[in-house]
Amino acid sequence: MKDSYRRKIGIEEEAENFLFISKIYLPMFPKKKFRINKDKKKFDCEIKAVLCSCVLPEHRHYHLYIKGIKFKKGRLAEIHLKGKSYSLSIK
Ligand SMILES: [Zn+2]
Repeated sequence: MKDSYRRKIGIEEEAENFLFISKIYLPMFPKKKFRINKDKKKFDCEIKAVLCSCVLPEHRHYHLYIKGIKFKKGRLAEIHLKGKSYSLSIK
């Protein structure tokens, strides 16, 4: 199983404050709400499936919402999974 995910934050993610999670990385994440560590603090987060028709047929995109974190366009977000613990860094 994959244990790290990195993504450059896009304009839509900044506008709606989420991180897009590629479908192939979904198995890395819990199916329910979980917590992520950043700078020694814990943040509540959740992945939501969103219907999309950017290409047909209609399909789902997966958005990671983290309470208290601001996603800024152009920054690089990295999530690491170690044991059962998730950590986030944004560069
Ligand atoms: Zn789409």
